[in-house]
Amino acid sequence: MFDTHCHLNFKSFDGVVDSVIFDAQNIGVTYITIPGTDLVSSQKAIDSAQKHTNIFAAVGIHPHHVFEHMEREAQTIEKEISVLEKLLNNKKVVAIGEIGLDRHMYQKTKYGEYVVEEKFIQLQKQFFVAQIELAKKYKKSVIVHNREAKQDLLPLLNEYWDSFFEGRMVLHCCEPDKQLLSFVKEKKIFWGVDGDVTYYKEKADFIPRVPLDQLVLETDSPFLLPEPLKSQKKYPNTPVNLPLIANYLAKLRGENPEVLKKQTEENGRKLFQID
Ligand SMILES: [Zn+2]
Ligand SMILES: [Zn+2]
Repeated sequence: MFDTHCHLNFKSFDGVVDSVIFDAQNIGVTYITIPGTDLVSSQKAIDSAQKHTNIFAAVGIHPHHVFEHMEREAQTIEKEISVLEKLLNNKKVVAIGEIGLDRHMYQKTKYGEYVVEEKFIQLQKQFFVAQIELAKKYKKSVIVHNREAKQDLLPLLNEYWDSFFEGRMVLHCCEPDKQLLSFVKEKKIFWGVDGDVTYYKEKADFIPRVPLDQLVLETDSPFLLPEPLKSQKKYPNTPVNLPLIANYLAKLRGENPEVLKKQTEENGRKLFQID
């Protein structure tokens, strides 16, 4: 299996990354991609990837963390992007991510005066486009984060689309939405599904419509703990829980769980160009 989105670079895993990877690979979650959300977590993703076989990193500035740059000068943004560019040289970096747009009003955030206003969305767009351009330049895959922002995201993706992105992009933790599905099918990219499918009814109802050859699995650990572990409050989520998601999905879709696990692993390897 392939956990294509797992934040082993977050605080919940400090000091236990090696053992979490060991446990995951031991039960058949062979491949993991760790996405960055800012420069520090991107570097942490690379550090873990370098230590382990079949563990890969993505580097990027997440739209939520773009908030840090609200009061800064344009040059500091350029500097941030140029540091990111240097990280791309590392062989274990298989993608730029997670990058995108996010209109969600987070209740829990480290930013005291967090507010989603147009000025902030404009800055998110600026960061997103700069990182999409890097992906084109360096031929890297892209992990797209979209939350409640498809009306801004889809026009941007169309505008900056390059045929290179075919098979090289994922809409991670994708919202159940017809327009997003049409986009995924038309552009031949991937749809990321997480543990929230076990309790988010609209997602569960929607997911059988996504073609199996365009589906990738992700835990988004330490978040999105799947049921029944969520009710049992067994936090944090870890890649060891990926089979729970796979088995639940197979049931929803009426597919053989082993076939689904194998196909989604293959899809993940195609997405990140791993032989
Ligand atoms: Zn995300
Ligand atoms: Zn994430």
